[in-house]
Order: sequence, then structure tokens, then C-alpha cells
Amino acid sequence: MKINVRCAVLALLAGAAMPLPAFAQSSTSKGATAETVTTQLPRSVRPSHYDVTVTPDAKALTFAGKAAITVDVLEETRTITLQAADLAIAKAALATAAGKRMGAPTVAIDKDAQTATFTFAKAVVPGNYVLSIDYTGKINTQAYGLFALDYKAADGSAKRALFTQFENSDARRFMPSWDEPFYKATFSLKAVVPEGEMAVANLPVESRKSAGEGRTLVTFGTSPKMSTYLLFLGLGDFERKTVQAAGTEVGVLTKRGDLAQADYALEQSAALLPWMNEYFGEKYPLPKLDHIAAPGRSQFFSAMENWGGIFYFENAMLLDPKIASNSLRERIFTVIAHEMAHQWFGDLVTMSWWDDLWLNEGFASWMESRATAQFHPEWNPELTGVGSRELAMAQDGYVTTHPIITPIKTVEEASQAFDSITYSKGEAVIRMLEAYAGSDQWRTGVQAYMKRYKNSNTVTDDLWAEMEKASGKPIAQIAHDFTLQPGIPLVKVSASCAAGQTSLTLEQGEFTRDRADKQPLNWRVPVRAAGLDGASAETLLQGKGALTVAGCGPVVVNAGQSGYYRVLYDAKTFAGLAKSIAKVKPVDQLGILNDAAALGYAGNQPMANMLDVVKGLPADASPQVMERAANVIAGLAGYARGNDKREAALSRFASARLLPVMKRLGWTPRPNEPVTEGDLRAALIETLGDLGEPSVLAEARRRFVASKTDESAIDPSLRVAILSVVAKNADAKTWDALHELAKAETSAQVKTTLYSQLGMARDPALADKALALSLTDEPSVTTSPVIITSVASGNPDKAFDFVSANYDAVMARVDSSGATRYVAKLAQGSADPAMVEKLNGYAKAHLPAGARRPVDEAVAKIQDRIKVQKTRMGEVDAWLAKAGY
Ligand SMILES: [Zn+2]
Repeated sequence: MKINVRCAVLALLAGAAMPLPAFAQSSTSKGATAETVTTQLPRSVRPSHYDVTVTPDAKALTFAGKAAITVDVLEETRTITLQAADLAIAKAALATAAGKRMGAPTVAIDKDAQTATFTFAKAVVPGNYVLSIDYTGKINTQAYGLFALDYKAADGSAKRALFTQFENSDARRFMPSWDEPFYKATFSLKAVVPEGEMAVANLPVESRKSAGEGRTLVTFGTSPKMSTYLLFLGLGDFERKTVQAAGTEVGVLTKRGDLAQADYALEQSAALLPWMNEYFGEKYPLPKLDHIAAPGRSQFFSAMENWGGIFYFENAMLLDPKIASNSLRERIFTVIAHEMAHQWFGDLVTMSWWDDLWLNEGFASWMESRATAQFHPEWNPELTGVGSRELAMAQDGYVTTHPIITPIKTVEEASQAFDSITYSKGEAVIRMLEAYAGSDQWRTGVQAYMKRYKNSNTVTDDLWAEMEKASGKPIAQIAHDFTLQPGIPLVKVSASCAAGQTSLTLEQGEFTRDRADKQPLNWRVPVRAAGLDGASAETLLQGKGALTVAGCGPVVVNAGQSGYYRVLYDAKTFAGLAKSIAKVKPVDQLGILNDAAALGYAGNQPMANMLDVVKGLPADASPQVMERAANVIAGLAGYARGNDKREAALSRFASARLLPVMKRLGWTPRPNEPVTEGDLRAALIETLGDLGEPSVLAEARRRFVASKTDESAIDPSLRVAILSVVAKNADAKTWDALHELAKAETSAQVKTTLYSQLGMARDPALADKALALSLTDEPSVTTSPVIITSVASGNPDKAFDFVSANYDAVMARVDSSGATRYVAKLAQGSADPAMVEKLNGYAKAHLPAGARRPVDEAVAKIQDRIKVQKTRMGEVDAWLAKAGY
């Protein structure tokens, strides 16, 4: 699954928050057997095949189902327990493989445990049976189980499409099942659908025949053995286009009228497939691979790796020409690469239990940059990787963090595992281990792992074992340090020069954002240092260590930035590095800037260090580095709100630093410019517009007005940025004009973007208007929470108070399981001490036990923001004054 990290809303969907009992203990030791894997079901019965027929009634939001499950009874028993949620079971029967029927069982539903137990009058002896169940279920209006998405077709008519979303534990809302990843089985799916609608699933359609009453019975091919959470069904007024790639039919599906917008996804996916076949050393095993774009959005995820039928919300897959930009292409490519990597890592080889979710998600996230390096080196994936590491560290430095591998006992705990630690720290740790093992050795290890475990389940240590064999290095020890312990190593460095050599003294500590006196944990840290001329040295640091690098110039520690740690240089060494920052490689400029910012905020280093680096970057620095510099200034501006003098000084610094770059780039894309310059142009317009730079504000407004009569006044690559600037600084009249645009827009993606921008207005009265609008019938159900999130970006307290006052109405429009995270994230930008109490009150009233983490994280961030404002910003004022701003 791909979560929405870029919206800073981390979470997922899935079932309701309910603690379930665990019958067996999890294990991270080798060998995933039935006895060692966590389960919430008795292990005495195991499914091998599901034959499922569903008949949805889209209008009534219900469906009827018939399941015939082939099971092996392993020990004599009078009961069979499986998982079922929100299903009504009408009839059940058990027969031997030869067709001999057992007496009809009684059925007991346990709503809290999400199980159904069938009890037989006589004991069922070990053997092979078929369990047949007739049942009915609900079609949801949020993305879990079988769910409906409503939209308007191009001709204005109202349409409803159906999809499924089962990760992590919602297949049980679609069919009674052993709904845990360990229970792999084959699936034969059939659906009775309205004539004229297109049905799509994991396997190709095998046959269609009339089912009467204007309906068609669609039979799909039988799947290989797979976990329940990967089953998929989609149904609606779709169009489909295919190409052949490496012997596989690759397809894209969209709602009617949008197919051309999927050309980019189809072309990139067809290129990726043969390359992934080769990387993994196993050919993609299904006859087809579809990418399905669905209208609407989720607050929590953008795509899901159902085997052979990948689901996307359309803003993650379709290239709408009205807002086409390089960054949108990059987003589409990386989401596709992520989901395709899962076809092997996750679908072909699956974690035994959710403890090891990180391996799925960290690996797929890491594969995004591997694929980008192969197909789009112009996007500089090594720089993107530094950004992703920073995202992980932004969560990992607080007291509320957790180890990558955390024991998971309940559905809610599994849901909460979908966060930056699982995804981005997982990715960063894999990148570090790959660099340590060597990329060829790493790939050899991956191939051996695929070959050995295909169609089965693993635990993390199964991968480390293959990696140690392939590399001959102690991968597992390092991996354990970084995956079983929380937090970020800090490598303290001091340098001295003698006889033409730089001697580095290294000491490992721990970086924390909010616990200056914490006793540091211990890690084995692969450390690489390099001089600006390329001379380098490496060590595996434990406690204290030393390195010698040839030459006497500045030395970068964590050169290449593949390590998951921060670097704290002594003052003199840092000053030398800052002075030469223009000569440092872009990837290391980025790493040094990130560390300087984090260490400054945490109080380990003067705030001046980050400002010196921002100021010292050359005007023609890599666009991604300059974008980060703009972002650092914008971050400081967030702490200046309400302090006019500080805000004005920061604005002057931003203009002096960034305006010359903006002038060089201009407002019109140049033919053949590096694609990342286009991204930088959009980012600078947003940052300078945010900071109220008068010339940028005036030009954005001028273009907005001109675009009403001349569409070419705004290049598609800048549409989102320019409208955001206009919206943030809107007065009532401009806001109304934007509102009219949103109402009239026909492209679903652009429409949602426009509605979200209505929430960005800084003017509190307009923020109130946007909040009121969010709960009307005007925006679509999935757009409402997007508007509220937008308001929270500038007015977090307002957004939180609004949700508190309209709790039930808002929650009816938010994916239910992600709701705990949704509300907490709205508040985390607050700097008001009163918000801490409000959040605690919210948690008490609405959160089940064990689901407080998102609230604790938001509280930690609010308390840190208040502390930074009090204790760190004075240094920024002093630096700005001294530098003449
Ligand atoms: Zn994923």
C-alpha cells in the first residue's frame, strides 16, 4: 500500500479499532511455522481454496455472497472458527471432499473478535472438507471492504463504481475467511454484475454468461496461492487499454472518458515489468497486470498492491493535462514502481504476520528509488532518498517513536503500523544495508530469497540470512540494531590534520528532539567519510572510533548519505565545511543542511549553522537542494507567525536568497530545461508567495486574473502553485472567484485540488467559510476531509475546534479506521498550550485503549513547537540582524 506521506497525513484504512485476543506468540526468529506466527484463530483448520460468488446491489449498498471453502481439518474438532465482520450468515454446511454432508452447524458471531464459529453436533475428524456459506454484507462508502465511490460522468450523470480494499484486515467484510496473511490459498472469484459494466479482478475474465434480469455472471481465472488481503474486485462504467510486456498483458482502467490520462501510467508500467522480472529473478507469475484508477481520494492511502489488479485513487495514477507537471509524473511513476515491487515483495513472498509489515513497505519504498535510478536518473533519486530519510527522522527523534519491528497483536495495532517509521525508516535502513552489502550482492540476496520463499510466508530474519550468504557480511547484527531499537544514532565528529592526513575522532550517541538528557542506545553504524577531492574511508562504528582520510580539506561524514544517522561536527570542523559548502556534492549539501536544521532545533548546535549553509549555497545549486533551502526558511517562518518583526526579517532574507534564483528561472518553463528546475520554480512561487514577497504575489494574482480569459496565462506545471498562493492570500472577493472555479470545474482531480485550496485562506473568516462549506453536499464525500486538512495547514486550532464541534458529521466522511490519526494530525501544527488538553480530552472521549499514539505524537510536536519558539528563535533573530536583514 502507498500511504499519503506527502500530505503529511500518515495512516491507513482498515477495520474498526478493536482489540482482539492473540492465541499464539509472534516470533522474529527463523522459520515461520504455524506454531510461531501470531494468529487470532485456532490453527486446527486451514483453508486451501476459496470459491466465492458475489452479487452486489450497488443502489442498496448491500451484497449477497456464496462461499465454498476447501479446508483441511488437522485435528479432531467440533468447532471451526474463521473471521467475519459485518456479515450476516444465512446458511452453512460442511461436506467431505467426496460430498458426504455433516449435520448442519450452529453459527455464533463474535462481533468484537470479528469471528464466526461453526459448531457441529458430532466431532469432525481430520480430513479434507468443503465449508459452504451463504451470507450477505454491506457495501461501505469509505475505502474498506467492498465500497462504493460516487462521481459525476462527463455528461453530468451520477455514477457509482465499486471497489474492494482489504489490507490489512477487511477481506473478512467481503467473505468469511481465514483473514490473516499466513493463510495463503487459491481463489476462484465470480461476480453477478449489471450488463454493460466492466468487472475487473486479480485474474483475467474467464467467461461471461447471462444471469437474467439484465445481469451477467463474470467468472475470473483461479489465482495462485495468496493471502486474503490481496484479493480484489472492481466494477463500474470503465474503459480499459492494454499492451504486452515481457509476455504479460499490462492494462490500465479508468472511468469512461479518462483513458487517455492513463497513457503515462501504461507506458511506464510496461517498461518497469521486464526490468523487475530481471531484478527479482522471477518472472511476474500472473497472465495480466491491471492498474485501476478510481475517482475520489482517501486521507490515508493512494494505492494498493492487489495481485494483478492494483488499485489507485486517480490523483496517484492519472496525468491530467490541466495540472501536468514533472512532479506529478514523478509521483505517478514512483507509486507505480512501489506497487509493482509489491507484486513480488509482499504478494509472491508475504510476511507471516503484521510485525514484519515494514519489510514489505520499506522494500517497496526503497524500490521506488532503484527504479527511478534506472528509468529517470534526471530526477536524482539519491536526493529524493535524503528527503525520505528526513521524513522518518522527523518522527523517530521524538519520545513517541517506536522500533521498526513492533509486536502486533490487534487489528488496530496493525493499522497504526502504516507510518513513516515502517515506510521511510524501513526504506532508509534498507538503503544503508544495501550500500554496506554492495548493490550486486544485495540483488543476489533478493533473488535467492524470492526463489526460496515464493508462494509462501517469511519473517524478516529469512531475508537477512540470504543477505549474509550473498554478501559475507554481518548484515543481521546491524539490521537488528536499527529495526529492533527505536531512534536515531548521532555520530559526533572532530577532525584534525597532520602530515597531509585528516584524522577523524568519532563517537556514537543518540539524536533526540525532545530528550536532551536521554541515555543513548547503542548501534553498529556503517560510517563513510570522504574529502571533497573524493578520498574516502569507512568503518563500522561501535561506541568510539577513528578514521583517517587523505588530504587536509573539509571532510563529509556520511558521505553519499546512505547512513541512517545524524552527524554532529565540532564547531571548527563545521565552520570549515560550511565555508566550502558550494564545493560539496548536492547529496551531501542536502544531508548537511538537514542535520544542521535538526541539530539546531534540538539545541545541539547553534541555529546559525543552518542559516550559514542556506546563505552559502551557490545560486546555481541543484534545484532539489535549493528547494530544501526554501523549505528551511519556510519552516522558520512557521515559528515567526504572530511576531511581525521576526516575520519581516525572515521575509527579507528569503527574498535576498531566493528571488535571484526565481528571476533566473522566470515564470515560463524554458524548452529543454532540467525537469527539476520546473519543480523548483513551482516551489519558489509557493514559498515566496507564502512569505508575502510582493513581486511574486502580484505576478501570481495577475496571472490568475488573466487566466479567466487566456488559459495560457498559467502553465499547467504551475497551476497548483499559483492558485495556492492566490488562495492563501485571498480576500473575500478572490475566495468567491476561486469557489466559482471549483464549482464549474469538470476534471475530478482539478476540482478536488481547487476545493482543497479554498481551505488554505489565511483570513480566519474565510477559513470559517471553508470549514462550513466542507460539510455541505457541494463537495464530494471524499473531498470534505481534504478541505478540513487544508484549513489545518494554516489554522490548526480552528480546524480542530470545528471537528470537535461537528464530530459525527465529519467522521461520517473520513475512512473510519484512520480517523484517530486524522483528528490528531489536524492539531499537530498548533502552538497553543491549551491544545494539549483539548487533545487529551478528545482521546479520552473517542479513542479505544492502545490507540493513543497519534495523539501522543501530536502533543509531542506541539510541546516542541512551544519550546522552540521560546528557546531557539532568539538565535535566529540575532543571526538575521547581524546579517543585515
Ligand atoms: Zn506499499
